Amino acid sequence: MHLSAATQFNPLPRNLLIGLIAACLPGLAAAQFTLAPLPYSADALEPHIDKLTMEIHHGRHHNAYVNNLNAQIKNNPELANLSLEAMQGQISRFNTAVRNNGGGHFNHDLFWQLMAPAGQRGAPGTALAADIDQAFGSLGEMKKRFDQAAIGRFGSGWAWLIVTPDKKLAITSTPNQDNPLMDLPEVQRGTPILGLDVWEHAYYLKYQNKRGEYATNWWNVVNWNEVTRRYTDAMK
Ligand code: MN
Repeated sequence: MHLSAATQFNPLPRNLLIGLIAACLPGLAAAQFTLAPLPYSADALEPHIDKLTMEIHHGRHHNAYVNNLNAQIKNNPELANLSLEAMQGQISRFNTAVRNNGGGHFNHDLFWQLMAPAGQRGAPGTALAADIDQAFGSLGEMKKRFDQAAIGRFGSGWAWLIVTPDKKLAITSTPNQDNPLMDLPEVQRGTPILGLDVWEHAYYLKYQNKRGEYATNWWNVVNWNEVTRRYTDAMK
């Protein structure tokens, strides 16, 4: 019997096809969190932050936060409809794994943007510089107090420069992967415009136990253009 092309390859009925596409849409719409590439090469922050540390920090540590967060979507389906930033502001609704890995993903996404290669780092903008002088006395004094927060954080965590809800600059620190956007009673809340990762994985290969030296050298790679942009946004 001769088979026509139509019977050899019978297209799916139109209604079934539409139904299949519709059934797939929620899956497609469900945001899977992804690891963005570093915004510069892994050696771009040398000599202050070494290439191997950047590769391991981004490719393994940050990647693990992303994978572990994605693994939580199955049990917390509402995560798929939340932006990473919105998640931070309602983190108290979720379990510790979401808090640790959602925080870890957010904090590292931010951290990479807060550093830049030589020639692209800029300086604090006029309004930010004036506000730093007013809040802390000088840029040098702000850095000193920020470094004290970084060094004084026992164990793993972050130091932050934030804009508080009443539009003031403040320095704070958080343990683990918490951050100032989180709706947690122990967090001093505000919009982070600068943050330093003081987990040992961020510095141990080059600096070993010398967290203070890492914190001091880190100022050399801060992306002041990005900090100024975030300050301007937060002050609106
Ligand atoms: Mn880290």
